[in-house]
Amino acid sequence: MDCIFCKIINGEIPSNKLYEDEKIIAFHDINPEAKVHFLVVPKEHICCADKIDSTNSQIIAHIFELIPALAKKAGLENGYRIINNCGEDACQSVPHIHFHIIGGEKLPEHIK
Ligand code: AMP
Ligand code: ZN
Repeated sequence: MDCIFCKIINGEIPSNKLYEDEKIIAFHDINPEAKVHFLVVPKEHICCADKIDSTNSQIIAHIFELIPALAKKAGLENGYRIINNCGEDACQSVPHIHFHIIGGEKLPEHIK
């Protein structure tokens, strides 16, 4: 499949990895919006939040259970923003669901 995040997951494209387990991977965004900006991505190819259902929601729960530890690992002691862009109107540019974790500095009220 011609999916850039699937290629990162199977090692075809390098990434600056923060964390990996059997279900998910987290890596730093190539074009950071703030001092810290990483993406948390399920290894299963789910295209977007609109396709979350009872068959795959466990992996989304797993992501959210891990976000506090990942944020701590990235030094986000003072808060952070979680962003998910879903679909064309939200300007989702990579059609493999991912959560942006952004922080490391005071963010503007609205970002992206
Ligand atoms: P979105 O617009 O929500 O789909 O976000 C896609 C994000 O993926 C953008 O913030 C990009 O900078 C980021 N991105 C695209 N390609 C790579 C890559 N090879 N490594 C790390 N981040 C990437
Ligand atoms: Zn994919």
